[in-house]
Amino acid sequence: MGLDSRMAIRIDMEALRSEAGPAVCAEADALLAAGQPEVVLSADGGASGVVRADGQPPCEAWAGVTADGFTTECDCPAVGEWCAHVVALVAAALRDGFEWSSTAASSSAVGQETKVARLMEIVGELPAQRVALLLAEHAATDRVLETRLLTYAGKLGPLTDAELADARRMIADLASQATSGDRWDLHDVEKAGRAIVEEVQVLVQRPATEGLLEVVEQAARAWDSIAVHLWDAWETYEEEPAEIGGALRDAHVHLCEQLQPDPDELAARLAEIIKAAEVDSCLDEPHDYLPVLGRQRVKALQQIHRAG
Ligand SMILES: [Zn+2]
Repeated sequence: MGLDSRMAIRIDMEALRSEAGPAVCAEADALLAAGQPEVVLSADGGASGVVRADGQPPCEAWAGVTADGFTTECDCPAVGEWCAHVVALVAAALRDGFEWSSTAASSSAVGQETKVARLMEIVGELPAQRVALLLAEHAATDRVLETRLLTYAGKLGPLTDAELADARRMIADLASQATSGDRWDLHDVEKAGRAIVEEVQVLVQRPATEGLLEVVEQAARAWDSIAVHLWDAWETYEEEPAEIGGALRDAHVHLCEQLQPDPDELAARLAEIIKAAEVDSCLDEPHDYLPVLGRQRVKALQQIHRAG
């Protein structure tokens, strides 16, 4: 999990130069010779750098891999994909051995992978029967693990229409029961949120489908609609709304990464969900969707957030 979204990216500088054209390349070479950009930074999973040239305002260039493929950006007035700043940035990044990846990997994710690799080595030395028993014992008390195991084994396929309908009903019921009648309190809202997260985390162990994505989006909307009560009591419930919302968003992002839905359609749905939320939507972290949406769509979604 997660390994596939961090594929190493190879950049073909020769192809890039021929696309940029000789005039742009000559200008880029002059910038490089003058030591520009001074520093290549990792930003949004790509490389970013400020390029300064005599008598010109400094330009911030960015290049990286997004949903739209290899993408470049620069705040200079040059039109088209390639300006001298971007070419100089990419050349400097390659020269410095910059590590391109399709998404920025956090250090905690890397730490987790190291731990998994170390434990896998140990598991490999155990008798298979013992490993099977250990796994079965855990799966018997952990619905997420149980579902993942059965999905791996091919015993559970994609959710059927009936299962999707059940899931939608269960999520709607959890949300509405949390605030129905006159005896509910804020703890019921938190409990409902955690129950919705648990359902979603079990569901997303099944093979990814559009129908499953819709259910997770419904869960996010349902949580948005009841989380309002906790936001109002932020002194008591300081962490919970963000924790529950974050878990739902993680599940949604993970599904999106697997499914690679049409980025324009996904952006439109996210915009709608963000606008529909009374206070804040748990899916309103556009940056988390960078690998599936691309930089421009993420920026557009961030604008909604500011306007709202
Ligand atoms: Zn430029």
